Amino acid sequence: MLPKSFDYVAPESLEEAIKIISSDPYSRVLAGGQSLIPMMKLRLASPGRLVDISKIKSLSGVSESKESLNIGAMERVAELADSQKVKKMVPALHDAASEIADVQIRNMGTLGGNISNADPSNDMPVVALGCGAKMLIKGKSGEREEPSDSFFLGPYTTKLEQGDILVRIDFPLNGKGSGSAYSRVNRRVGDYALASCCAMLKLDEKGLCIGARIAVSGPEKAVRVEMAEKLIIGKTVSKELFARAGKSASESISVEDSYYASAEIKRMAIAHAASEALEKAYARAKSNR
Ligand SMILES: Cc1cc2nc3c(=O)[nH]c(=O)nc-3n(C[C@H](O)[C@H](O)[C@H](O)COP(=O)(O)OP(=O)(O)OC[C@H]3O[C@@H](n4cnc5c(N)ncnc54)[C@H](O)[C@@H]3O)c2cc1C
Repeated sequence: MLPKSFDYVAPESLEEAIKIISSDPYSRVLAGGQSLIPMMKLRLASPGRLVDISKIKSLSGVSESKESLNIGAMERVAELADSQKVKKMVPALHDAASEIADVQIRNMGTLGGNISNADPSNDMPVVALGCGAKMLIKGKSGEREEPSDSFFLGPYTTKLEQGDILVRIDFPLNGKGSGSAYSRVNRRVGDYALASCCAMLKLDEKGLCIGARIAVSGPEKAVRVEMAEKLIIGKTVSKELFARAGKSASESISVEDSYYASAEIKRMAIAHAASEALEKAYARAKSNR
């Protein structure tokens, strides 16, 4: 199917882009187009005007501060998968970037687009939530920051309002003894995940777990599973404990039968992804002490 006809603009400054989208309720940001264009072709979205943000240089680039690795919203997923800096500093993000879809989609799709899209099947919302990332947003009333804990509201819904652009995503660096990982159970090669988990662990010198964040893909949005985190914090961890935390994560969210799998299979997939992500995060945290 062909999309409905639409206007197209490609401003070169963020201010100009914000001015256009905040004055026209029928306009929509276009980043990599790998979710929006298919939705337009299926007529699930019919924006009157696309505002292509790919020419805005300030939306790209990776920089670091003492506290965080800061990634421009227009960084392509393939660039994150190729980055040694991302691999070393936020390994969970690197894990996810390496597994999303296929090379064509990774070459076009952006980190900011994946997060803004907030499809419950998208990988990056789970990574952002598991890592405790912060979103830097600019809109007509200025600039603001939104923690990942409150950014995702539901399917395809976030704290972004008409006129807002997600500018940068800041991933906290948790220092020595920390490690993160992302695991997914695939429906089939190159397709969305059936279940996924991002885990971040922090260990003290003796190997005791002193910090944990765990997020899983839920039916409506990425979900932080605090019961599973509590099982691990303050403990000397083991494979058995990670398996218990994985089971707890799978029981903390509501799942239903769908075209792809029964609720029972989905719970098993969440438990598997969570225990695997925890084991990988633990191995990385140990080698980072
Ligand atoms: C066959 C196929 C398989 C796929 N498999 C996966 C997968 O396994 N995992 C996965 O995570 N994704 C998958 N995707 C989706 C893909 O990763 C998309 O690239 C991603 O969801 C959206 O990023 P984008 O840059 O292409 O955004 P676009 O499609 O351009 O935009 C998506 C939405 O976000 C909004 N938006 C984009 N950028 C911003 C911004 N900076 N500020 C405000 N709003 C913004 C747009 O207005 C639009 O509503 C797949 C897609 C296809 C077609």
